Amino acid sequence: MRVYNFSPGPAVLPQEVLEQAREEMLDWRGTGMSVMEMSHRGKAFISIAEAAEADLRELLGVPKSYKVLFLQGGAMGQFAGVPLNLSKPGDTVDYVNTGAWSKKAIGEAKQYARVNVAADAGEPYTNIPLLSNWKVSENAAYLHYTPNETIGGVEFHFVPELKNGTPLVADMSSTLLSRPIDIAKFGVIYGGAQKNVGPAGLTLVIVREDLLGRARPGTPAFMDYSAMAKEGSMLNTPPTYAWYMAGLVFQWLKRQGGLKAMGETNRRKAELLYTAIDSSSFYKNPVQHDARSWMNIPFVLARPELDKTFIAEAKDAGLVTLEGHRSVGGMRASIYNAMPLAGVEALVSFMKEFERKHA
Ligand code: PMP
Repeated sequence: MRVYNFSPGPAVLPQEVLEQAREEMLDWRGTGMSVMEMSHRGKAFISIAEAAEADLRELLGVPKSYKVLFLQGGAMGQFAGVPLNLSKPGDTVDYVNTGAWSKKAIGEAKQYARVNVAADAGEPYTNIPLLSNWKVSENAAYLHYTPNETIGGVEFHFVPELKNGTPLVADMSSTLLSRPIDIAKFGVIYGGAQKNVGPAGLTLVIVREDLLGRARPGTPAFMDYSAMAKEGSMLNTPPTYAWYMAGLVFQWLKRQGGLKAMGETNRRKAELLYTAIDSSSFYKNPVQHDARSWMNIPFVLARPELDKTFIAEAKDAGLVTLEGHRSVGGMRASIYNAMPLAGVEALVSFMKEFERKHA
């Protein structure tokens, strides 16, 4: 029996996608082999790779002037990849700090460039700093921010418009494909796949072409955006199976009506859960209302001694991976695209019943 899995990542995948992968596992369309066993340079895999890219471009409306890269190394690889590709030693780079993942990105960037923290939400990281207060540099090589903080459950519901023309770089690991976005506002978008895109092992980078060709000397070739773009992400062996699975997810998203429809459903799911939390004094979400994530919803109990009981009883009800991040405690429900509305409804009714029993 499948459970409702609220994992922050690797996360639930659409059941239809898993079923299709199962059907195609031993013999992909008459090739007599699984996608895992194919040469990445053969006709069969190239067709899979190209279809996935075309579908992703269609879903996100990626302009022709952007390259889409299918890489390895995770979002954390890009914490180094971004400064290596976009800045020279000694350059100033702007970062916005909204929580745990921003901090990690900042820590890595400091190894390569002069980091100016243009805005810092400050402890306990439950809001987005007011754009008009950001202290952006005159000549930053780029400005980096984290549109959705997976641990804190803090999300930007706007794209910061920078008046000085500085390229905007976004770690969209836990929000990419959750709703439509205007790619043209960004210089680089990147994210690990293991939340909304597919299985772990694949990292997406969407980069504006005029930012290519700037990697500093010493950049490992497999992290060099231009080198990878030139080779269609196949300078070395790409994560073929994860790429294929992401392609199946993109087709599934198109069948759901694309990102506009997905965004509507995601908004409804989040509203349902936040309303349940806010209408009870037994549960609490600490995030400022205009910064609440649609994807990751942390909450605590009024009686934290019941945390373990909550997790255990939820598991018995088929609701799993609700533990909060080890640095935060409490609970966290991650409700990415593949979590159906019915899963959130089941969680909400479990929460009501748990409160009735234990409050
Ligand atoms: N950024 C964000 C926002 C994340 O949620 C994560 C993973 N949870 C990372 C970066 C790190 O990604 P990876 O594990 O793919 O390196």
